[in-house]
Amino acid sequence: VQERFDAIVVGAGPSGLSAAITMARAGLKVIIFERGEYPGSKNVMGGVIYREPTSRVFPEFWKEAPIERPLVETNYWFMTDNAATKIGYRTADFMEDPYNSFTVLRARFDKWAGEEAKKAGALLICETVVEDIIKEDGKVVGVKTGRENGNVYADVVVISEGANSLLTQASLGMQKNHLPANHFAIYAKEIISLPKEKIEDRFGLEKGMGATIDMFGDTTNGMVGTAFLYTNNESVSLGVGALISQLSEKGVNPNDLLEKLKRHPAVKPLIEGGEPKEYLAHMIPEGGYKAIPKLYGNGVVIVGDAAQLVNGLHREGSNLAITSGKIAAEVIIDAFGKGDFSEESLANYDKRLRETFVIKDLQKYQDSSSHFEENPDLFATYPKFMSMALKEFFTVNSVSKKDKQKIIMKNVFDERSKWKLGKDLYHIWRVLK
Ligand code: FAD
Repeated sequence: VQERFDAIVVGAGPSGLSAAITMARAGLKVIIFERGEYPGSKNVMGGVIYREPTSRVFPEFWKEAPIERPLVETNYWFMTDNAATKIGYRTADFMEDPYNSFTVLRARFDKWAGEEAKKAGALLICETVVEDIIKEDGKVVGVKTGRENGNVYADVVVISEGANSLLTQASLGMQKNHLPANHFAIYAKEIISLPKEKIEDRFGLEKGMGATIDMFGDTTNGMVGTAFLYTNNESVSLGVGALISQLSEKGVNPNDLLEKLKRHPAVKPLIEGGEPKEYLAHMIPEGGYKAIPKLYGNGVVIVGDAAQLVNGLHREGSNLAITSGKIAAEVIIDAFGKGDFSEESLANYDKRLRETFVIKDLQKYQDSSSHFEENPDLFATYPKFMSMALKEFFTVNSVSKKDKQKIIMKNVFDERSKWKLGKDLYHIWRVLK
């Protein structure tokens, strides 16, 4: 007799594990399939996780989870080929428990989270690919795994397969096949090891504390994308990526962008002497609100990156993944109470998610990607203007300050008419409003 479960979770990333833990804690019989050797083994995010949303599933996780550093400083750098205009924020408030956010290496963090799922009572099966979805009379009733006799059945299937959402697209048909290339960015990343003390000296950090730098402009050759440098405990994560559509249009390989970034005069001294430990590449969904697929069906829900729940402008993905996984699980728990796993019943997931920051934020920025794509100068030209103006301003010579102002304005207006500047401001307002 084939073993049945209450719920099957496909993918042990933050969205799937949050869903599994929430359901298992409520007493549901949950099985998680993960294609990697262990949760996180396929994940390249060495990035930031946020305390408040994460602790809704993993209370006080920073006391036992393998976090790298609590973050006390956030920086935005606007880059030209040889300069960086820097804006940063540091507060002592973020230095104290319970902190605000943390850098993590997901290969370690997800492995820990997988153990938490097991402790909650979920069955975690690794090195197993879910190849297809099993449907009967229009209802999702289980999954087909790559194992012998690998069909597994349940009342509900949670799809948490991440950005490369093959099941969502092909098996379920809930996302348009062939999502356009401008709905995804591809990032290349290196983890570069450095001694702790060197990291703290170079970034001006108290012992154990961390900082992030997100970079815009020339680092992506003006394409829509970003670069980042995050401090881990004994390494830094350095990465860069852009929309796949623009990379292929310009024939640029993200690895070339990464090599260029390593040579940038503002970045080079921060990574000097470091040993590259790992090289990784991965996709990030960037389609935003308009690319979100239908989130529920008869016996199925879609969470996290598979549902395109990423807020690229704020580099938030893990918190949207965790929140969507938790809410989907709560709706499934309610569905068990009613014994109703129909599309109408699971539609509550969509309804509840819309009431949270997840959908509200994505809705707010729904036009950002297309605005940036249609106005590439916002990425390429303004960092150049900033650098030119500040270089002029900080160069002390015999030119009067009034003449310096005139030179700055002339240089700007030579490249951009007042009309175009006004239009750019309007676009920036449209993105941020
Ligand atoms: P994933 O974490 O991708 O997990 C999906 C899991 O499903 C994987 O373990 C995969 O192996 C498994 N899987 C897939 N298909 C199958 C299948 N058919 N069968 C079995 N298993 C399967 N977010 C932030 O919040 N902060 C950051 O700083 C940040 N930085 C990032 C940097 C990079 C370079 C990248 C690529 C992403 C970054 N993100 C960041 C985004 C964040 O990683 C994602 O939003 C988050 O991981 C989504 O979680 P998820 O559980 O939906 O998907």
